[in-house]
Amino acid sequence: MTAAIYLRKSRAEEEIEDALQRHRETLLDFAKKNDISITRIYEEVVSGENLYMRPQMLQLLEDVERGTYDSILCMDIDRLGRGNMASQGVILDTFKTAACKIITPRRIYDLNNELDEEYTEFESFMARREYKIITRRMRRGIVKSVESGGHIGEVPFGYKRAFNGKLPTLEIDEEKAPYVRMAFDMYVNRGVGCQIIANAFTSAGLKPKKTDSIWGRTTIRRILRNPVYTGVIAWNRYRNVRKRNPSDTNKQVLNEKSEWIVIKDAHPAIIDKKLFEGAQEIMRSHSHSSYFTGEFVNPLAGLIYCSECGKLLQRQHQISKEKYPRLFCRTKGCSSGIRLEFVETAIIDALKGSLTELEPKINNQAAKDNSAVIQTYQSELSKIKTQRNNLYDLLEQGVYTIDIFTERSNALAIREKNIGETIATLQSDPVPVDLKELSEKIKYTIDHYFLTDDPNLRNMLLKSVIEKVIYTRKKDYPYRTFDISLEIKGI
Ligand SMILES: [Zn+2]
Repeated sequence: MTAAIYLRKSRAEEEIEDALQRHRETLLDFAKKNDISITRIYEEVVSGENLYMRPQMLQLLEDVERGTYDSILCMDIDRLGRGNMASQGVILDTFKTAACKIITPRRIYDLNNELDEEYTEFESFMARREYKIITRRMRRGIVKSVESGGHIGEVPFGYKRAFNGKLPTLEIDEEKAPYVRMAFDMYVNRGVGCQIIANAFTSAGLKPKKTDSIWGRTTIRRILRNPVYTGVIAWNRYRNVRKRNPSDTNKQVLNEKSEWIVIKDAHPAIIDKKLFEGAQEIMRSHSHSSYFTGEFVNPLAGLIYCSECGKLLQRQHQISKEKYPRLFCRTKGCSSGIRLEFVETAIIDALKGSLTELEPKINNQAAKDNSAVIQTYQSELSKIKTQRNNLYDLLEQGVYTIDIFTERSNALAIREKNIGETIATLQSDPVPVDLKELSEKIKYTIDHYFLTDDPNLRNMLLKSVIEKVIYTRKKDYPYRTFDISLEIKGI
């Protein structure tokens, strides 16, 4: 990562003489700890309110625009800005267009990330005072959460408890998170209601709580409403009402939404914001029941196509109890239909076949990778890191001047970049899918498919490994005869 440092006194520091030097030390120290290679230091000596009174900033903007840096280090985001709105706009725009990140000892800002942009604008435009009050409250909130044993209350389904230093946070529970994604996907993209998702969860053997094994629609709805799955934590949602008598129990009251402090990117997200908003939208539009009743479901929905006309096959509704559900092509005179369950059995058999074919390829994949070569280059990279650390030491000891330091650091950065590019090329060579993982998923599908009657769950199992199925049944095919071919995901 190639970076530069931008130094500038804040309004409050105008009288302090060695302020810039102290900032420089802090930022260099930060760069050293985070293995950031600093190739230039911009030091604003005159400091005008107007952008055009700040020669170093103008120089910096020009260099950023040219794509010289991946990131710029500064003490606070408002060191860059401070001044009128127009100047702020020019600066933020330049960083955004050049995809140059802003790094402060507190946080990394990536303006190409929408959330970050919001945050940056928020932070640098807001009145200083107001900002102070909010950070103080934010800190208090975090302290409170630590005291009360962590991230407010129970760990949500799909996550595990993790710690960030002393601060309790969440990490993704890889076993359960796929079901959270499925629940959102079913609800938003497939029009499936909460009760059916709940049934699917129950029949998959998941447990909502340790003591409970049956899922209800309310529990699913609570999942679909919880912004925690987008990586967000909302602080200050509740306030404690103080006890009047010693015998009173503590009471928590929900605060106004405007009083919440929402912290984004607090932990890894399981689903993206768009999918989450999609679910909220559906809930708003039909507050209770889903339009999908769950009466009819095709376990092969969205999966099986006619080889003749290319259309998705349909499931024929049962007309009487004697009749088995059938698959058919809606194009007149096209492929003949067949009993649904025959196709299901054939698909599972075909999956077993593909598993046998995968077996030798898995071993092959393990042997073929070029990790040894990559490793050599990586050790080269870590040598550069050591050399850079030495540079910092020499600078600290006063052996190197800032000029010599930046020159040497620059040379290292160029070498580092070249090696990095070589590694990237090597890594982009084949090995796109992890065949071992794929074969495990296929095994899972084969083992579980007929254990459940739930067509939704069956559909989920198939879709976890199959891209699509092509179905052929010409008019002259004998009784119960048909062909299918599978397209496995990622192969
Ligand atoms: Zn057809």
